[in-house]
Amino acid sequence: AGELPHPPSPRIITIANQKGGVGKTTTTVNIAAGLALHGLGVLVIDLDPQGNASTALGIDHRAPDIASVYELLLGEVSLRETIQQSPNNDRLHCVPATLDLAGAEIELVSLVARENRLRNAIDEGALSDLGIDYVLIDCPPSLGLLTVNAMVAAKEVLIPIQCEYYALEGVGQLLRNIELVQAHLNPGLHVSTVVLTMYDGRTKLADQVAEEVRRHFGATVLNTIIPRSVKVSEAPGFGMTIIEYDPGSRGAMSYLDASREIALRGATV
Ligand code: ADP
Ligand code: MG
Repeated sequence: AGELPHPPSPRIITIANQKGGVGKTTTTVNIAAGLALHGLGVLVIDLDPQGNASTALGIDHRAPDIASVYELLLGEVSLRETIQQSPNNDRLHCVPATLDLAGAEIELVSLVARENRLRNAIDEGALSDLGIDYVLIDCPPSLGLLTVNAMVAAKEVLIPIQCEYYALEGVGQLLRNIELVQAHLNPGLHVSTVVLTMYDGRTKLADQVAEEVRRHFGATVLNTIIPRSVKVSEAPGFGMTIIEYDPGSRGAMSYLDASREIALRGATV
């Protein structure tokens, strides 16, 4: 993999879709690994209590007493204290999530600046010391306060859309939430990227969905489509992304292509 350009300042991208199982976490960790393989520094912030992104990056989020994104949101620890390096690539870092985070949605409600906790915690000095070019935030499957925190902390939203029945169901609601955050909390926020995931070329339906999504979102949709492949779903079980687990596979190649497209076209479309 050749080198990709470093953005002038870190690009902060939130991966959101309130539907579960559309490929948010898979897309987050594999784009992260793809960017890192191309020579860029990447920080994944795991905002899902399940901690699946942490697992896929080889980080043991069940270890006792780890400083996680939960303590970060509560203001008990600094960003630096929460960042761990992935054993798979020294340019790849993660702020892990623990199951404590499941309670945060409710606990945050009573805190001051509850929508700005993550933004306020992102310390640019720490990012620059670690050479971070990209911050990718993996959201839980809801539009609650954790996802709002992610949207306030980011400049860009990446929406993964599964090539399946009802693919666009709920996307209208997601876009309305993004508009609300734009209007009241983060005027610079925009949908920069849409990624089609779990494409099965054997079905007519997948092509119809891809066409419909392109009609709806135009140039924000990446040219690269992520194929459905069993290997992609196996990789996290080994604490890896598909890019480490099977670098020559179609899944790995497509996520490498997707990361290259994201880096080359920059923050705006
Ligand atoms: P989300 O984070 O939106 O809930 P995940 O990324 O966890 O979605 O994906 C949901 C399930 O689909 C997981 O079991 C994952 O391993 C699997 N999966 C994701 N992308 C692919 C793919 N391209 N091919 C096959 N399985 C996939
Ligand atoms: Mg997920």
